[in-house]
Amino acid sequence: MTTATDYRAIAEMLCATLHGDTATTTLDDGRRVRVSIEPDPFGGFGDDQDWYGEVIETRDGTRPAHFDGASRKFRHRHGVVWWQPPTDARRDPEVLDSLAKRVRDYFLERWHYASVTVEVTSSPCATCAHPHTAQRSFGGIESDDMSTIVAAVTDLFADLDD
Ligand SMILES: [Zn+2]
Repeated sequence: MTTATDYRAIAEMLCATLHGDTATTTLDDGRRVRVSIEPDPFGGFGDDQDWYGEVIETRDGTRPAHFDGASRKFRHRHGVVWWQPPTDARRDPEVLDSLAKRVRDYFLERWHYASVTVEVTSSPCATCAHPHTAQRSFGGIESDDMSTIVAAVTDLFADLDD
């Protein structure tokens, strides 16, 4: 049995040693733990829309009818995006600008949403003589948000060990 602290320590170690998008370690009990991170499909903010505001990609570049004067337009390699900031962000120009930069960076593909998968492979089983593998995934994590990635790896690993 692995303790909660161990899960976190192992998750931190694995995330610190991510080469490309995977990292693997072997535990003292012989189990192998593999972490991988895969980009989610590109295409807007989904569940995070309340936080990031509404975005609409337009073909002809005209502002969507229900967007107002606070909305901003920018180009990316897939076309033109109009962004309507959420009400909360409009009160503070600095907040508004940093949110606008974050939204623009997403469409310029400087960050993306990602899914994290943890896979645990047992040592050869006493009954069938083969290793057993189990895996769990969690998606919709911002690719540069390492603390959330570490937390997800910790939780997935603990779940798999139940
Ligand atoms: Zn077996």
